[in-house]
Formats: sequence, structure tokens, C-alpha cells
Amino acid sequence: MIVSYPEQVLLHINGQWKPAASGKTLPIINPANEVVLGRLAHAEIADLDEALEAAEKGFAVWSRTSSFDRYKLMRKAAELVRERASVIARAMTAEQGKPLAEARMETLAAADLIDWFAEEGRRTYGRTIPARLGGVSQIAVKEPVGPVAAFTPWNFPLNQVVRKLSAALATGCSIIIKAPEETPASPAELVRAFADAGLPAGVVNLVYGVPAEISAYLIPHPVIRKISFTGSTAVGKQLAGLAGQHMKRVTMELGGHAPVIVLKDADIQRAAKLMVGSKFRNAGQVCVAPTRFLVDEDVYGEFVDSFAALTRAVKVGDGLAEGTMMGPLISERRIEAVGALVQDAVQSGAELVAGGKRIGNSGYFFEPTVLSNVPRTARIMNEEPFGPVALMVPVSGLDEALEEANRLNYGLAAYGFTRSADSAARMSSGVRSGMVSINHLGLALPEVPFGGINDSGYGTEGGADALEPYLNTKFVTHLRAE
Ligand code: NAD
Repeated sequence: MIVSYPEQVLLHINGQWKPAASGKTLPIINPANEVVLGRLAHAEIADLDEALEAAEKGFAVWSRTSSFDRYKLMRKAAELVRERASVIARAMTAEQGKPLAEARMETLAAADLIDWFAEEGRRTYGRTIPARLGGVSQIAVKEPVGPVAAFTPWNFPLNQVVRKLSAALATGCSIIIKAPEETPASPAELVRAFADAGLPAGVVNLVYGVPAEISAYLIPHPVIRKISFTGSTAVGKQLAGLAGQHMKRVTMELGGHAPVIVLKDADIQRAAKLMVGSKFRNAGQVCVAPTRFLVDEDVYGEFVDSFAALTRAVKVGDGLAEGTMMGPLISERRIEAVGALVQDAVQSGAELVAGGKRIGNSGYFFEPTVLSNVPRTARIMNEEPFGPVALMVPVSGLDEALEEANRLNYGLAAYGFTRSADSAARMSSGVRSGMVSINHLGLALPEVPFGGINDSGYGTEGGADALEPYLNTKFVTHLRAE
């Protein structure tokens, strides 16, 4: 299938689409066939200085724009994203690899998220606090924190940007987005929708380059007041440390290693079907992907057999081809990392039930993989695989499952399957994680919290709570003159 992909993806600074000041570009690779799709403008310090100046100017304008006008503009941008969904989704599949249907869903979900944040921005209420003395008023008001620097990864090119962008815009902040170099065109189309909707110059600025250089320059910069990062735990800790040194507000959405507890009273076939769909979505490159399957030993064989049979039926291929259920990984590096983790698990005693290796030698395809009886000492039981690998572990019941679920310091998503209300309640209170979904896939809607604890980060990027990190609370007290 032919896809129109931009020859060059440009930076967006101060309302202008432009190449990097140095003229430097980077290639953009299609992970399904390793063909160069186009080239990407590569920002350096001069471009960042321009973006910082624009963001400061944009903040002055946008923070004074009424929340009702901000709402109207955001709704218009959401409509443009919907109108352009087919084009955006095709570009996303070409650069990221995910099946077209997934890319389209992500695009439409981005529009819904913009709508929700636009509306919620109108409800950033303050408070009146009863005073102790007559004639005194005490109010708490919410003010936008200032220009934001956001760093987003390649796995959900739109979704990761739109959560930060929408929260920033809804609260009156300006933003510099360092979008993913691997998947730049689809987030550029998202920014274009806002620009075309009439967003004032400088409110949203988009750059790409060397991630470490850009974060090292933007985070300490005095113009920037808030940092939001999505990516690996190791990088998140570095960036949070740097932000801490400069006393910047931070939201961190980091890695996970989600446990899935399957009890013997669960609907086993349904659980297997739902979890296979979820595990191999986006080739497992999802921070909330189900990873450690902790299955009651009485139903272990039945669950693993069903899961493996469904896994073998997952059709892998180019995301633009009809019928593809799972696309490639993002890069050669990810193929090597996932392959090494699988090999280590097998050497440690795990049983390979399905998949386990790279497919072909053109494109970054990896077989949907199931490992059974995986020892807790295997690297993959401790490090986020971030790939299409499911780890099966038998457990004696809920106590052991909860102990294993909480063994790692990650705490992003957790899943459970049971017909017992009592077990569901024990799962929801006993699992240490930011999100728990029982008997269905209920995460990541715009109106619900989205975020982790411990090594999975802090702050939430969904629901009403997601606006708070972009706001300062100012207290104003006033004694009326006699
Ligand atoms: P990586 O650690 O090199 O990069 C992960 C992300 O962080 C990328 O988007 C990258 O551009 C960014 N990054 C890296 N160093 C940075 C820095 N100093 N400043 C700012 N941004 C920086 O790894 P990778 O091979 O691209 O991805 C694999 C790992 O990343 C996975 O193991 C997974 O844990 C993590 N990851 C997590 C998410 C998520 O949704 N939480 C998404 C993508 C990747």
C-alpha cells in the first residue's frame, strides 16, 4: 500500500514550520522494511533558544487567554485531527510499524482526549477559605505554571504527546515538545491541527534532535517551569534528578512490568483472549502491557495452552497490509534487547512455548512469544521486556500472586481475573501499582487517572488530576480598607 509521507519533517517554532538553523537532518526509517521514509530536521542550541524565546512569548499570550477561548480552540483542533485521521494514521503506521487500525484508534483517541481536557480546563476552580476575622477575604486561585518542556517516546507517537500538550494548553501553559525522532511525522500533524485551528505563535513549539542534548539544555533553563517525560525508568531518574536540582515541577511516566493475576474461578478462555490482544498490541511496546502472568496452578495448563494457541494465530507483518495483527518492533536495538532477554530466560530454565526469535532479516519483526515456568531470577522477570513476550508463572493462590506482583519496584498497571468479589477487592487493595484493571481492559480513557508509582514514576496524565501538575496554587488574602 502506498503511503504519502512528508519528504522532510520540520521543526515548529514561533508559529513557523522551519528546517534546523544548521540545516542538519536525520533519516526516518520504516521499521517494517528499513526503507528511508523521509528526513527530519535536527534541532541544536540555536533552534532551542528560539523555541525558548517563543515559548516565553507564547505563555504571555496564552495564559491571558480566557479558558473559554482556549476550550473553543482546542475543540477546533480536535475536529481537525478527526478529519485528518486517515492521513495521520498512515504516517504513524509507516514510521512506527503498528497496524493501521491501531494507528487510527490512537488518532481518534487523541481527538477525544483533546476534547476532554478542553472541557476540564474550564473547571480549574479555586477556593474561598473562611477567614478568622471580619473584613478579610482568603482565596486560593489556580495559575498556569509556565512554559513546559515535554519529552515523549516513539511507542505511541500521538498519545504520548497529546496528554502533555492538552493538559498544558487547557491550563494556559505554553510548551516545547521534544517529540520522538523515530516517529516524527504523526506528532507533527497533531501540532499542525492546533496551528491550523489558530493557536497563537509560540504557544506550541516542536523540536527533534539528540534527546540527551535537548533535555540537558531545556530542563535547567530558567524559562522552563515544568518537565514532563515519558520513557524508561533509567532516563526518567536522570531527568527528575536534573529537574530537582533546578526546582522544576515534574511528571514522570516510566516503565512497567505489569502482573496479571488469573485465579481458578476466572473465565479462563475470556481472560486468555483479552490478554493476548493486550499483550501483542503495538508488539508489546506498551508501558502498561501485561507481562508477568501469575496463574493459579489448578488452571495453569488450560490458561497457557489457550494463550499459546491464540498467540500462534497472531498474524505478524507490515502494519499497512490487510489482516496484520502485529507489526515490527521499532528498531534493530529493540530486536537485540528482546532476543537477549528471551535467550537468557531459556538458559535460566524457562520453557519456550511459542515464538522466541526474529522473523526474517528485513524489517524488525519478532515472533509473538510465550515463555512458561519462568524462574524469578531470569532477567526478563526483573527488567521490562518492552516487546512481544508473555511470561507464565504458576502460583498456589492469591497470596503468592500478590507477593510476586509486588516483588518488583515497578508499579504502573496490574490486571486481575476472578469471579469472586472478595478476591477482586483483595487484588485492588493488595497490588502496589498506579492502576488496577479487573476482568476487563479499562485503562487509559481521557477521564480516568493514568500513571504509576515507585520506579514507574509519579504524577498522573489522565482525568481531572492531570491538570493539577500544570497549575500553581496562589493564596491571596485581602483586608478590606475601613
Ligand atoms: P531509550 O532509553 O534510549 O529511550 C527511551 C525514550 O527516552 C526515547 O523516547 C528517547 O528519545 C528518550 N530519551 C533517552 N534519553 C533521553 C534523555 N537523556 N533526555 C530526554 N529523553 C531521552 O530506549 P529505547 O531503546 O528507545 O526504548 C526502550 C526502553 O524505553 C524500553 O525498555 C522502555 O522501558 C522505555 N520506553 C518506555 C516507554 C513508556 O511508554 N513508558 C515508551 C518508550 C520506551
